[in-house]
Amino acid sequence: MAKPILVANWKNHPNSLSETMVLLREIAKSAKLYKKLSLFVAPPFTYFESVSERLGNFGQLASQNISSLSPGNYTGQVTPDILKSFGTKLSIIGHSERRGFGETSEHIAKKIKTALHCSIIPLVCIGEMSRDPDGEYFEFLRDELKSSLAGLNPKTDISKLMLAYEPVWAIGKHAQDAITPANLSQSVIFIKKVLTDMFNRVVAEHVPILYGGSVEPANIGPLFSETGIKGFLVGHASLNAKSLKAIAESLISK
Ligand code: PEP
Repeated sequence: MAKPILVANWKNHPNSLSETMVLLREIAKSAKLYKKLSLFVAPPFTYFESVSERLGNFGQLASQNISSLSPGNYTGQVTPDILKSFGTKLSIIGHSERRGFGETSEHIAKKIKTALHCSIIPLVCIGEMSRDPDGEYFEFLRDELKSSLAGLNPKTDISKLMLAYEPVWAIGKHAQDAITPANLSQSVIFIKKVLTDMFNRVVAEHVPILYGGSVEPANIGPLFSETGIKGFLVGHASLNAKSLKAIAESLISK
């Protein structure tokens, strides 16, 4: 069976390189544990070198975004060739916080193609803003998935990407505010149905679906064992070495 996937999204944290080094030292103490998973760490760009060096052979470098710009002069941009040169293996694409800055599904579709072209795994984020009793959010989810994955080839492209289902209402809170396992199972089934309609059943079963949104040691167990997901995209809890370790331990105990 494939290893559980754990992606740490550090966003714009820690606040300094020295704090980053302290965190990395703590995380590295559990290197043996992390080797049992597919661990990716997505730090701010400025910490790329330190993180890629210290992850050694127990984790891989990820980026929180990828630019779809072709070579040229772009002040303030980090281009895909730079990401590659640091050994970036995965890019989080379409995170709701980036969509909040105006990134559209069209941009995201382009970025997915850029990542695939560079042999970087696209981790494509989708998720509804809020839930309504009539289930209209399923329509939102369908549209977002369809427009983000538009133009991809089921044979050559889709098998190389991963999806992160991150309901926006559940991000950045605490375990008790996260989705329930029953509701997560429903969303996973729905996403697979949309993938089947867009591509085919084989694709729907093959694409790893991760969950993100207030995952902590307290809720990870049932979210993993009862829902059909393959791993997690973790924000705030991944910035605490103890929490990250507890999350990893839960993943390998299933
Ligand atoms: C995220 O923003 O991708 C995320 C999952 O954050 P948190 O775990 O803090 O909800």
